[in-house]
Amino acid sequence: MNQKKRNKKFEELDKRYIWHPFTQMKDWLDDAPLIIEKGKGSYLIDIYGKKYLDGVSSLWVTVHGHRKKEIDTAVKKQIDKIAHSTLLGLSNVPAIILSEKLIKIAPKGLSKVFYSDSGSTAVEIALKMAFQYWQQKGTEYKNKTKFISLYNAYHGDTIGSVSVGGIDLFHQIYKPLLFDTYKIESPYCYRCSLKKTYPDCHLECADYAKSVIKKLADNTAALIIEPIVQGAAGMLVAPDGYLKKIRELCSKYNILMIADEVATGFGRTGKMFACEHEGVLPDIMAVAKGITGGYLPLAATLVTDEIFNAFYGEYKDLKTFFHGHTYTGNPLACAAAIANIDLFKKERTLQKLQPKIKYMTKRLKELEDLNHVGDIRQKGFMVGIELVKDKGTKEPYLLEEKIGIKIIKEARKHGLIIRPLGNVIVLMPPLSIKIEELKRLLEIVYICIREVTEPRLQ
Ligand SMILES: *Cc1c(COP(=O)(O)O)cnc(C)c1O
Repeated sequence: MNQKKRNKKFEELDKRYIWHPFTQMKDWLDDAPLIIEKGKGSYLIDIYGKKYLDGVSSLWVTVHGHRKKEIDTAVKKQIDKIAHSTLLGLSNVPAIILSEKLIKIAPKGLSKVFYSDSGSTAVEIALKMAFQYWQQKGTEYKNKTKFISLYNAYHGDTIGSVSVGGIDLFHQIYKPLLFDTYKIESPYCYRCSLKKTYPDCHLECADYAKSVIKKLADNTAALIIEPIVQGAAGMLVAPDGYLKKIRELCSKYNILMIADEVATGFGRTGKMFACEHEGVLPDIMAVAKGITGGYLPLAATLVTDEIFNAFYGEYKDLKTFFHGHTYTGNPLACAAAIANIDLFKKERTLQKLQPKIKYMTKRLKELEDLNHVGDIRQKGFMVGIELVKDKGTKEPYLLEEKIGIKIIKEARKHGLIIRPLGNVIVLMPPLSIKIEELKRLLEIVYICIREVTEPRLQ
C-alpha cells in the first residue's frame, strides 16, 4: 500500500471506530482528522510528515520533550526485565526506587506513596483515604464525612472526582450521581464573584472560605484544591497568599488539605510543585500528568504518616485501605518516571526554565494590545489567554461561536498544536522547549488570535 493510500485508510478507520474524549463527534466527522505518528523534542509529526510545535505538551504531560533519550532507554531497559507485575501482595524494583525519589522531592511531611494510573484515580484515592482516615481516627470524628471544594475546580472525570468538581459545563448533567460537597468561591480575579479587585480586596474570597470552613468543620473530612492554578477552568491563577490562607484555615479547623497537583506538578509552574510557591505542606497530594514526562500512564497519592497510621493495625481490625488498580505501580511506567525525575537534576530543568518563563511573560504582554484579549494569566509555564467579545464589559464569546476552536485550527495551519478551554487559549509547552521555539509559538499565537478575532483589520 502506498503512503497516501495508507494515510487515507487511517483517516477512514479513525472515523469509523474511535470515539474521541471531550469531543463532539459530529464536528470531528466533518473534518479530516489530524493523526500524529511521531514526535521529537518539542515537535509532533503527523502521518504526512508535517511538523507541529507541541504547544500543550500533549495535554499537559510532556516535560523533557518527545523521544527523550534517557527516558526511551529507561523504558527499553525495563522492557528487557519485566513489563508488569502487581503491587498487590508483591513489590517491584522501579516502584520502590521511584517512591523514595517522590518523597525526596515532595513537600515536607509527605512520607508514603500510593500508586495508581491517572489523575482521576489519584484524586479518588485521596478522597477515600481522607474519608476513611476520620472514620478510623476515633468515634468523635465520625461525622467528618463531607468535602469542601472550589467553584471552577477540575479534579478528573470519575464520579468521585466529578463530585468535587465545579465546572458546570462538564459536571452538571451528572449531578444526580454525585455526592454532596460544599463549594467555596474560586479565586478568579478577572471575574471575581465578590466583585472585588486584588489587592484592595485583601483576599475577601479567603475570608468567605473561612466562614464556610468554620461552620462546616465538624462535618468535613477535607478540602480539595488545585494549588495556585485552576487548570481546566482556564488557567485561573490564584492571587498571592490565597493558598497559604487556605492551608492555615484547614489546620485551624482540623480538616485535611488535599492538594491536587496533577496539572501543576513536575515543574509546570516554575517550581517542582505549586505548593512550594507559598511554603504549603498538604496532608495528601495527588500527582499524575507530568510524572512520567508524558510517556506512560502513572499517578500517585502521597500522604503523611498521620494519615497512614490511621490505617495501620491488626488485620482483624479491618483498617486496611481496600483499594488498588490492576496496573498500580506498573514497572514500565515507574521506570519512565524515575528517568524523568532524574533528568530534572541532570539537566537543571527548573533553573533553565526560569529565563524561559520571563521571556514568555515579556512576549505575552504584547498580546494585551489585541482588541479581544481580555485577560492573560500565567504561572510559570501554565498560560491562559481569555478572549472576550468586548474588552470594556468583559462580555464573553458565546459557546457556539467556537472562538477558541477557530484559533487553534488557524494555529495548525502555521504548524502549532494547541487546545483551548472554551474561550481560553491554553499554552503549556514542554519545559524543555528552546527559546527560538517558544518565540515562534508566541508569534503564531499572536497572529492567529488577531486573524480570527479582528478579521477586518487584515
Ligand atoms: C487532568 C487533571 C486531572 C485528571 O487526570 P486524568 O489523568 O485525566 O484522570 C485531575 N486533576 C487535575 C488538576 C487535572 O488537571
